[in-house]
Amino acid sequence: MPAADPLKARINQALAERHSQGLLRHRQPIQRLEGATIQVEGQLYHHFCGNDYLGLAECDRIRQAWQDGLQRFGAGSGASPLVTGHHQAHHQLEQQLCDWLGFEAALLFSSGFAANQAVIHALMQKGDTLLQDRLNHASLQEAGHLCPATMKRFAHNDSGDLARRLKAAPGDRPKLVITEGVFSMDGDQAPLAEMRQLCDDQGAWLMVDDAHGCGVLGPEGRGSCAAAQIQPDILVVTFGKAFGCAGAAVLCRSDVAQYLTQFARHLVYSTALPPAQACALAEAVRQIQSQPWRRERLHTLSELLAANLDARVPLVSTATPIKPLMVGESQRALELSAQLKEKGFWISAIRPPTVPAGQARLRLTLSAGHSEQQILALAEALNEVWHAAETE
Ligand SMILES: *Cc1c(COP(=O)(O)O)cnc(C)c1O
Repeated sequence: MPAADPLKARINQALAERHSQGLLRHRQPIQRLEGATIQVEGQLYHHFCGNDYLGLAECDRIRQAWQDGLQRFGAGSGASPLVTGHHQAHHQLEQQLCDWLGFEAALLFSSGFAANQAVIHALMQKGDTLLQDRLNHASLQEAGHLCPATMKRFAHNDSGDLARRLKAAPGDRPKLVITEGVFSMDGDQAPLAEMRQLCDDQGAWLMVDDAHGCGVLGPEGRGSCAAAQIQPDILVVTFGKAFGCAGAAVLCRSDVAQYLTQFARHLVYSTALPPAQACALAEAVRQIQSQPWRRERLHTLSELLAANLDARVPLVSTATPIKPLMVGESQRALELSAQLKEKGFWISAIRPPTVPAGQARLRLTLSAGHSEQQILALAEALNEVWHAAETE
């Protein structure tokens, strides 16, 4: 008889559970076409669930900058930033981010997930207090659970709850508060000015993950913190959303950057971004700074959608391009998503554990790359599927 295989048994059981709960996930190869359209298995769809809010993933100048970077620097960086992977292109991008966002130092990471893990693990020690919003991104939650600090989650966007927890924390130990600027699944915004004040009063540091705000909000697209006129101690920006590329940066004071350069393991032990990608990102920053029309267009499209939706469609009105359509049951979210697909709209159902149980939703996102016609057609399709669901 072959030996028992407990790992295989566990994997099969977990898959069977996900399947029976209607929570099994799949990847599907897509092809991106012009104008927020994708092709999947030969079918064309209007695409309303990406994070390319400004339409920069298709920007010719960014593509060109990436190609020029490839010619100048070759394919990969060749090493960790601490060995020989930190090229002139990385250095210049970090300077540009500092000047734009108003920080002394910036450190590039290969992803936002890595940046969040790196910062939390490098800063937090046993006995410290880490307080984070209950709806923070998985990368923050996971690092918080795994790090040696005492981690507590405060009620979503609830400054009162945060204040109580800050006061209860040991006064002589480091305290770190972490929030997103714009919440990725809800599209709402953290009360950053209040949080900054609370942190100052209690001697805590504030870290803001502005993955969905940077590029989209604030003067020159500088993000949630600039919009709220505050400076966090640590700002994380990611380049996979409004920047249309990939990667991330941590912005902070220069002593903190120096400390992270010693102790942030995802920086020390990981290959630096390809320098050509840094060139593309430098161009993305220039586009974000110099093209306010992209942000204005998002605003216009957002208003157009709201104006053409039936009042009964429970699309949450937000000040960001993220517009959740709250459904509740996972199965129902999948059905609505499938019906919209039949009408030519690609909008993924977001289910637990990405969102809390019973809060499955369609996460609609707008992009400056959408046309007015696409928005009007979307409104019509949403009105239809919602009406059909109600009269079933
Ligand atoms: C997407 C996201 C990340 C992860 O960034 P990647 O660069 O995609 O790894 C981190 N935080 C938030 C809030 C995000 O939405």
